[in-house]
Amino acid sequence: MILLLLGPPGAGKGTQGELLAKELGIPKIATGDVLRAAVRDGTKRGKEAKSYMDRGDLVPDEVILGIMREKFEGDETRNGAILDGVVRTVPQAHGLGLMLAEIGRKVDKVLLFDIDDEKLVARLSSRTVCEKCQHPCKDREPGTKCDKCGGTLVRRKDDEPEAVRNRLRVYKEQTAPVIKWYEERKESPLKIDADGSLEEVLQRALKTLKQE
Ligand code: AMP
Repeated sequence: MILLLLGPPGAGKGTQGELLAKELGIPKIATGDVLRAAVRDGTKRGKEAKSYMDRGDLVPDEVILGIMREKFEGDETRNGAILDGVVRTVPQAHGLGLMLAEIGRKVDKVLLFDIDDEKLVARLSSRTVCEKCQHPCKDREPGTKCDKCGGTLVRRKDDEPEAVRNRLRVYKEQTAPVIKWYEERKESPLKIDADGSLEEVLQRALKTLKQE
């Protein structure tokens, strides 16, 4: 199954994507993680993406579609994938659909994580992530240690207030139209209330997936 997760930054797609990946036994692919690794490794793709990412802007569609092509040509996605943070524009949705059709596959389900704006700003501004394993932690100061691997927690540059506001603006302008795009193709996103504990939201997502 190819499951695509939609929703604003801070809605919990990343964490829920990881939990769903474990439950469903398929890998989670997050373009944000792929890009951050490229920035850390100083690759050509990373150098191209860095300034967009630091501002909270979207990196060009061709870069994202290139990542998707590599992932779906590889073995990793043979049994399916959970796509987190991709797609984020209508051209990406269109391009991904075409690319998957070429290899006889399609996006099977789209989940939309739904939550209020005020909650998002609060969540993102209080988030730190582990420098080493990228695990996100809530309400923990930069410089303290990751619960998972003991690495140092840092604030992502794009979780600073100015970049957060920009990311929400970008979501409304460029990503929200993707919801309509899928609706028009009779692949309506399945809405999940993303306000709740990790376990509550996970159970809502699993229930919704089972019902459809
Ligand atoms: P994320 O971890 O999903 O919040 O992504 C972090 C940053 O990576 C975003 O703010 C964008 O700059 C970039 N990015 C990740 N995925 C995409 C995408 N599908 N389209 C464009 N930019 C992306």
